[in-house]
Amino acid sequence: MMINCATLLTVNPANDVLHDVSVVISDSRIIDILPKKQSEKYHCQNIIDAQNHIVMPGFVNTHTHIGMAYFKGMADDLSLDTWLTKYIWPAEAKCINQTFVYDASLHGIAEMIKQGTTFFCDMYFLPQQTVKATTQAGIRAVISDIGMDIAIAGVHIPERNFSHLQQYQESVRDHPNIHFCLGVHSVYVCSQETWERAIQTAKEHDLILTTHLCETKKEVIDCQRLTGKSPVQYLYDLGAFEQRLLFAHGVHLSADDVKLIAGTPCSLSANLHSNLKLASGILPMSDYLKHNINVSIGTDSVASNNTLNMSAEISTAAKLFKAYYADPTFLPAVELVRMATINGAKALGAEQQTGSIEIGKYADLICIDVSSFLSQPIYDPYSHVVYSMNSSDISHVVVAGRLLMQDRNLLTIDESAVKERAKINTQKVKEITR
Ligand SMILES: [Zn+2]
Repeated sequence: MMINCATLLTVNPANDVLHDVSVVISDSRIIDILPKKQSEKYHCQNIIDAQNHIVMPGFVNTHTHIGMAYFKGMADDLSLDTWLTKYIWPAEAKCINQTFVYDASLHGIAEMIKQGTTFFCDMYFLPQQTVKATTQAGIRAVISDIGMDIAIAGVHIPERNFSHLQQYQESVRDHPNIHFCLGVHSVYVCSQETWERAIQTAKEHDLILTTHLCETKKEVIDCQRLTGKSPVQYLYDLGAFEQRLLFAHGVHLSADDVKLIAGTPCSLSANLHSNLKLASGILPMSDYLKHNINVSIGTDSVASNNTLNMSAEISTAAKLFKAYYADPTFLPAVELVRMATINGAKALGAEQQTGSIEIGKYADLICIDVSSFLSQPIYDPYSHVVYSMNSSDISHVVVAGRLLMQDRNLLTIDESAVKERAKINTQKVKEITR
């Protein structure tokens, strides 16, 4: 495959922006990036004309629960505690089964591809169904179950927190696009014993550990009351930060907490829309950056967001933090594009493989159509991506050299079938939760 690009955001270490170049792909990887004039030496069967496009790496969404696709808009305008305990967990107990999670996962993946995500990190029940949908769609993913000490009838028993891990890993062993990680819900629904076992298991199997951390003030106050420590100090003392820990939210960290984890191999998944909608708070972005902590971007689930739209997340982040710190120079557009691409790949241990457009890496990229007058003028492509584009401008999505969307049409997922299953499953949710 060859993609002839008007503008290419490489997101390489120098943030090179190239014009009138061709990206040459063989099998799943980028084998050359060269001036279009010289591209005739390659005889490609599939040539994508991106003459009116910005081509960039696909978005990496580092925190999702895509099996919750049918809970979008079911319960809004509530606190996290009320939302989880009174609505989400009871609905999950009543609705979830294998088919439901598969259908919802495929729905979520379809939404992500449409909006330019090529790689995501998911944490949800019955993860084998998410693996099945991911395999069908051809997107890249790191997937985990939800480890927690709360039982949800028919869905989760705490005894199963670790027992299925080997089977899960075995199922994706030869899959180039899917890996497993270890999901532990949070400090507030997991005992110290569960955490110790998770940390030990992650060490033994060299797995990324992912969790929700310091999402609300209540979580911090409760942890301090129970353990005498902040959630960060508590997990730090248990050894959670000694290996790759990807924590979502990270809103209520003190300056000391951030200093404590500086230099550890952890990454943050910033979930701004979810935090804003649930009024959880605004994370201390400046502290994270000051201590060189890897900041990536996630959407959280559509039940709390209510979309999986990564370009909307970075657009909000750009403006929110400028206002928050009263500094219009804070978080320039290029930095946000890096957070939503290469930083996400780093958080998932895959920065040598994806997250930027460089020779040798997987061809995971998107084409943004800028032919409409709504997109004009463009002086700086980074500015366009962060401040101006709509996710519906994304016309092509490629993962591992395979086209998953062409001219805005999904190629690996039947959109009408997704709509039909959504209708049926949403009706079931309404009946069951009435
Ligand atoms: Zn979450």
